[in-house]
Order: sequence, then structure tokens, then C-alpha cells
Amino acid sequence: MPEGAMKTWLESSHFSGGNTAYIEELYESYLDNAHSVSDEWREIFQQLPKVEGSELEYRHSEIRDEFRQLAKQPAKTVVISGGGDAKQVKVLQLINAFRFRGHQNANLDPLGIWQRDKVRDLQLAHHDLSENDFDKEYNVGSFAIGQESMKLGDLYKALRKTYCSSIGAEYMHITDTDEKRWLQNRLESVQSKADFSVSEKEEILKGLIAADGLERYLGAKFPGAKRFSLEGGDALVPMLKELITRAGTNGAKEVVIGMAHRGRLNVLVNVMGKNPSKLFDEFGGKHDEIKSSGDVKYHQGYSSDFVTPGGNVHLALAFNPSHLEIVNPVVIGSVRARLDRRNCKQGDLVLPITIHGDSAIAGQGVVQETFNMSQANAFKVGGTIRIVVNNQVGFTTSKQEDTRSGEYCTDIAKMVQAPILHVNGDDPEAVILATQIAIDYRNEFKRDVVIDLVCYRRHGHNEADEPSATQPLMYKKVRKHPTPRQIYADQLANEGSVTAVKAEELTNYYRKLLDEGQCTVEQWRPMTAHSVDWTPYLGHEWNDDYDKEISVAKLKELADKIVTIPEDHKVHSRVNKIYDDRKKMASGEKLLDWGMAENLAYASIVDSGERVRITGQDSGRGTFFHRHAVLHNQNDGSKYLPLQNIREGQGPFDVHDSVLSEVSVLAFEYGYTTAEPAGLTIWEAQFGDFANCAQVVFDQFISSGEQKWGRLCGLTMLLPHGYEGQGPEHSSARLERFLQLCADHNMQVCVPSTPAQVFNMLRRQVVRPMRRPLVVMSPKSLLRHPLAVSSMEELSTGVFHNVIGEVDDIKPENVERVVFCSGKVYYELLEQRRKDEQTNVAIIRIEQLYPFPEDELKAELEKYPNVQQFVWCQEEPQNQGAWYCSQHHFRAAIPKGTYLTYAGRKPSAAPAVGYMSVHVKEQHALVNDALNVEKD
Ligand code: AMP
Repeated sequence: MPEGAMKTWLESSHFSGGNTAYIEELYESYLDNAHSVSDEWREIFQQLPKVEGSELEYRHSEIRDEFRQLAKQPAKTVVISGGGDAKQVKVLQLINAFRFRGHQNANLDPLGIWQRDKVRDLQLAHHDLSENDFDKEYNVGSFAIGQESMKLGDLYKALRKTYCSSIGAEYMHITDTDEKRWLQNRLESVQSKADFSVSEKEEILKGLIAADGLERYLGAKFPGAKRFSLEGGDALVPMLKELITRAGTNGAKEVVIGMAHRGRLNVLVNVMGKNPSKLFDEFGGKHDEIKSSGDVKYHQGYSSDFVTPGGNVHLALAFNPSHLEIVNPVVIGSVRARLDRRNCKQGDLVLPITIHGDSAIAGQGVVQETFNMSQANAFKVGGTIRIVVNNQVGFTTSKQEDTRSGEYCTDIAKMVQAPILHVNGDDPEAVILATQIAIDYRNEFKRDVVIDLVCYRRHGHNEADEPSATQPLMYKKVRKHPTPRQIYADQLANEGSVTAVKAEELTNYYRKLLDEGQCTVEQWRPMTAHSVDWTPYLGHEWNDDYDKEISVAKLKELADKIVTIPEDHKVHSRVNKIYDDRKKMASGEKLLDWGMAENLAYASIVDSGERVRITGQDSGRGTFFHRHAVLHNQNDGSKYLPLQNIREGQGPFDVHDSVLSEVSVLAFEYGYTTAEPAGLTIWEAQFGDFANCAQVVFDQFISSGEQKWGRLCGLTMLLPHGYEGQGPEHSSARLERFLQLCADHNMQVCVPSTPAQVFNMLRRQVVRPMRRPLVVMSPKSLLRHPLAVSSMEELSTGVFHNVIGEVDDIKPENVERVVFCSGKVYYELLEQRRKDEQTNVAIIRIEQLYPFPEDELKAELEKYPNVQQFVWCQEEPQNQGAWYCSQHHFRAAIPKGTYLTYAGRKPSAAPAVGYMSVHVKEQHALVNDALNVEKD
């Protein structure tokens, strides 16, 4: 620094309350425009130290913050002899350096394998400071140690202790100053070291004894059996118990946990309170007599209650498949349902905890999606506690550069500025402190927070694996490494808080509980009356009768409500036109179209006090401009939802345009619906084919969840489908995929073709007590097809027709051929037949393809006893659509001795052609083919 500049600096920069404000102002002005300050000041500011590497460069906001903090302090000059003010800035920078980068030199890895360079910014010399300055007193700015100034030596020690011990705190990516200050306060005020009482320490030890004890017991009793041992990550058990206890103490009523297989059995027994004898039975091959096909023990969910000082907390561990991260949105959806039920918008009453693997959290995109959802209106739950069981190996992949491209596996969390607390799994007290900070942060700021539990895996991926084959050096270390229980028991014995004898007693006691097959969780309680009762929904079939009718008068009353828009709410002219039409439909002047009937279905549901929840990328308006459940005021952008204004005390109507995702949104809605049987929950794909981005949710949860886990789910999925010449994408919702998943009446696949059908199909899903998923091939062009209209009377019957017979005056005795079809092609067949004045072909619509309405179809076919030719007509290529999956149903319904043929597109690798002219030609051909009666 030139002498002149330094002189100015020294002369003007006493860090007192008075003139820091002035410097800050100068600095702000410099940040806006470097030339707005004098040359001397510019030089000074330019020389403020920075961290190398652009990513970790100190943000100017940090420096500004420091000035601000100083300015808030009472005028007090802390000037030390010999260039003190210049050093004072460096000291503040040193504090910042630790806050930014301390975690990179923290003691996080229990095995000591991580190779981490010494961070230069954490060295005194980098800040032009040295041990010679240790005795000098400096203002510590915002460093939350409870004093304004400190000797540099003490400060340096405190910084190392706070940021480079067993907790590596990453939070300086957060821009909100309050949040940062809050975290600093929690970490710095105790120098990242908690002061636990002896009984608290004993409790932590008990958790480690349980974690270790169960695995040893299982290992000895069932050698080689897969259990995905927690060993190495034992601290997870006391950590979860602490989270639940603290949540309950703060008023939470429920905790929902999602986790993959690692350590799951341990959590089931030592946290959830599953009786160990049940687990042993499962290892021994015994299981309850169940109707379902069941699942392996490390996918099983569990429900129980847990006593806390704030009252009982209900615990639910979600069932999960082997797909590692997919359970996370399911858990969060389940939490949202529970919060909605409790009318808790802030998220205080239900806590979600998701437990991740280190490779999976970095590798799987659904994690990013759930972070992105975490503050979005439709999906927020007041923050999720995300724990990474970071055992530093993904199956057999251990090198950082093989598993990710970021420094930490948790880097993805920074996208929502979540704080990340890396913590050494061998230091259980640090783990518990990090846990307390995490849950308090979540409760305070209602945002996601991550705890990265850095640990190891004592065995292979599972117990039959030999990890040394692929991780030889790591496992040399692991073999010699004492267990977390041993390390902590020794520590407590050494400090004299819990004797070795006592630790031994606790270990023996735990072992006795296992021997006797007793619950190992003191806080466990049997589940008490729960906030939702599923029994009314159990044991129903899709064709059970139900109270379905709704009077025309009621429909008219509801119709009037949903077409009424407040006068001062100016809607767009195109929307106005739609609402003008709807008014005519309400008054009986016009027949009802799809949008009107659909909205009326929602109106009738909320009017009955039930709730409706719809999410999808364009759900408010509808991808195809047909729904308009949300009306946007053209003057001020405000929204009006007629369906929220049906009557006082109506059920909630929630429609949300969702984040642009399929997999996590669908998984969320699955979670929501498996936790909430009442009302109607709908996920709508923008175009049906996008559902394939969510295939795992259909395969692993929606189609099989009831059979594997006995969990009912009444979710409705609207998947726009239909061949309109729009090309290979957006024509097909891949009907064949859903039909292929159908068995055991696991879900319903419907293709409604009229407004009355959609009305009654949606109502049926709520009014009927059966709760099974409903996959709907919903229309696009039919939304405005002049023939796709219905009367109020058709709606009021309440009947969803699984099969719709011939509608024209076709004499059955003249019929030589019967065409079966579903969806929009029906109208093309009908129009063509009418045009040709053909009277020898009957057209039957199959509106529910699964469960297949065989009896109803047979009854319809009885009208045509002499027909020999039956045709299934579809728009899709032959290898797609319903032909391959459903033809056995068609064949079973037609009379013996008759034959069934196919009319549709030829097999194709792509769902549809890309050229309109080819599409039109194909469409004509398949319609003509279907209607063309063969003469023998
Ligand atoms: P949870 O709140 O998830 O712990 O569930 C409490 C209890 O409700 C479970 O033990 C089940 O008996 C029942 N239950 C919860 N979800 C479902 C579901 N989707 N289908 C059927 N029963 C359920």
C-alpha cells in the first residue's frame, strides 16, 4: 500500500461506532462504482484480502456486514499500537476465512483417509498476522463469543476450535444475514462444543450401545444374512432419538422418516421400537399370514409413538423400494398431507427427516428436485432435516472423483442455501450438537438443513460382500478402528463421567433385552388413536356399490357458483368467452363441455366438505386452456378461484401449478395420498408421455405399494393422451405401460370419453370408499369436440359407465360387426359411420380398461347374438395401446366361435409419426379398416 494511502487509512479508520458507518458508506459507494471514492480509498479497498479461487472469494457483502456489525457497537476505539487498524481489518478477514473455509480443515473423517490440503486462508501469515500479534487485543466484530475484543492468540484458538474440530459448518453461502448470524451464534458461542450433563452423555452412550449391540447380535445369530449394517455410522441412532425428542419438546406431533436400506433395521428396532423378536422371526423366514406378496425386511415401514417431554410424538418410517433417493419426495408429501390435516401452514407440527447415502445424494436427480420443491407453495413443509450417512463408499465406488464432481456429496443443498453441518461420526457429542442446531434452525427458519454424518462402513455393501477386494486400504484401517461405542465409552471413562463398569452394565442390559425379545426403546409407546382412521377404506372392491346420485338442482346450484366471477375481477377476453359459455351451460341453454363438467365434479366434492388437491405444471389453467380454475385479474394480476367460493365451511380446493418436474411431484402426491385417504388428490401430467419421467414412481409405489406393503393410495393421475398429429411426443401417454402393470386389481385405468364420464369418474374416486390409484388417459382435442358434451341429467346419475354401448339407432339384428374402442377414436369412428350411413356396425366404448368390466361388456354383447366379427380399434401402433395387454379380456367377453381382429397402426418403435399428412392418412386407414365389414 502506498504510504499516502496507508496514512489516509490510518488517520481515518478508527473502528468505532461513529466512523465505521462512514467507512461502510464509502465502501458501498466503492462497490457500486470504484471511481466514486478517492484514489487513496480505492487503493485501500482494492487491497482488502480475498480468498483465492473465484468460488470462495469473499463476497463484498461479507465485508460490508463486518462494517455494519462494527457500526452497531457503541463508540469504542480499539486501536492497538503499531499499525493496529490495518491489522484490525485483517483480523476480521481471518474470522471470515474460518467461517468460509474452516470446514475444509475440520477433523471430519473418523478413518483419517480424506486428503485435504492445509487451507492457506486459515493461516495467520495469509492475513499478514503472526504469533507476534497473539497478545494484542482486537475487536472481533460479529464473532459471537460474548466479548467485543480478544487477544489474537485466544481468538485464533477459538476459531480453530469452532470451525476446525469435529463439526465442519458450511453456511456462508447463505445470503440472509439473520440466518447466518443465527448459525454463527450457535456455533461460535460454544465453540462448536456442547456441554452435556452426565445423564445426557449416558443417553448418547446408550444409543451407541444399542446401535452396536443390535448389529453384533444379528451378525452372531444370522451370520452372512443381509442386514445392511449401520456399524460405523452408529451415531445415527442417538442422533435420530435426539431429533425426535427435541421435535416433540418443541411441540411436534408427528415425525415421518424416509431412509434407504443402510442401518434401517437398526432404526426400526432402536428408534422406532419394533420388537426385536419380530425382526429375528423375519430373519428366520417367519412372517405374518398376509394376503399381500410382502417385501424384504429392510424395505419395511413402521409406525409407533415415542414419548418426549412435550408429549407423545407419532413416528412413521416410510416403506421404501431399493431405489435410493425416491422415497424422499414420498416422505415430504406424506408430511404435507399431515400438516394440511392439522391445518398447520408453518410446518411446526410434523417433522420430515430424510436419510441419504453419500453417493446417492450427489448422484440422483430427484434430490435436486426435492430441494427445489422445498419452498414452493404446493410442496413446502417448513423444512426437512436431511441426514447423510456418509460412509464414503457407494456399493464399491469410493473415490470422490468417481462419485461426484463437487467437493462434498452435499453440495446440491447449496442450491437452496441450506446450511450443511459436516460432523465426525466418531464424536457423538458433536453429532448431537449438530443435530440440535439443525432442528432449531429448521424450526426457526422453516427451511431445509443438512447433517453430513461422516462415518464409514464396517462391512461390505452387505454382509455377504468382501469389501477388501475393492477397498483394500480403507478396510485395513476399518479393521483396526475401534467402534464408536468403544471410543465414546473410553472417553467418558477417562473424563470420569460414566465408568467402564457402568458402560458394561448398559451393554449387558441391552443384550438382555434382545435375548428376551423386548422392545429396546424406553420412549416407545404403542400407537394411540391416530389423526386418521383408515379402517373405513379397507377391504373394498372397485365394483362395490356406493351412494352416487347428485340431484340436478344441486348441480345447477353449484354450476351457478362456479360461473360467477366478482364484477371487479377482469378476466382475459378468451377466458371470459369460456365463462360466458359456462353460464349458458349452467342455465341449461347449452350442453356441458369437459371443462365445465370437470369443474362441477370438484365443486360437488368441496361442497360435500371433502378436499380437492390438484398439482401439475399447468393445473390452474389446464395445459389445453380448458380448466380455468384460477382466474387472473387482467388489471392487477390477482387471482380468483370460484371453487374456493362455493360455500362457507366447504372443503379446501387447492390447485397448484407445480415445479417443472414429474418424478418428485408424482412421488410427493403419492406420499400425500397414502397419508390422506379423504378427498381427491390429482396429479396431472402436462402431456401424458411425460409420465415416463416418473416411471419409477408408477413401478415401485403406485402399482405395487398396496401389494408389497398394504398401503392404500387413491391418487388420480390425469395423463393427456390422443393422436392429433402432434408428432411422436405428446400423442401417447403410453397406455400400454400402465396396462402392463395391472394385476390383482391394483389400480384403475380409465379412458373417459364424455364430460358426464369424467364428472362421475372423479366423484367415484372420492365417494366410493375404495382407495386405489386411478390412471386416466385424459383428452386433448375432445376437450372442445362438439360431440363430447353431456347433460346435467347424465351427470346427476352418478354412474361411471365402464362400458358404453351403441348410441345411434342401429338395429342389433342388422349388425355384422362390433367395434370396441376407447377414447377419442370413438368419435372418428362415429362420424365416419354416420357419414357413410352405415348401419351394420355397432361401436362399443370401453371406458375402463382395468379392472376390465368383462360382465358389463358381455351384457352389452348379448344384444348382438349373431355377430361373428369383433374388432378392437386403436390409434396407437400395434405394439402400444391396449391391444397386447387387454386382448385376452376382449376375447374372454366375445362369444365362443367368433373372432377378434385388430384395426390400428402397424407396430412402430416411435409412438407416432412426425408428419401431419402421414398421420391423417394412417388415421383414415385405421378408421376405415375398423368399419369395413368383411364379407366371406
Ligand atoms: P402412519 O401415520 O403412516 O404411521 O400410519 C398409521 C397407521 O395407519 C398404520 O399403521 C396403518 O395401520 C394405517 N395406514 C397408514 N397409511 C395407510 C395406507 N396408505 N393404507 C392403509 N392403512 C394405512
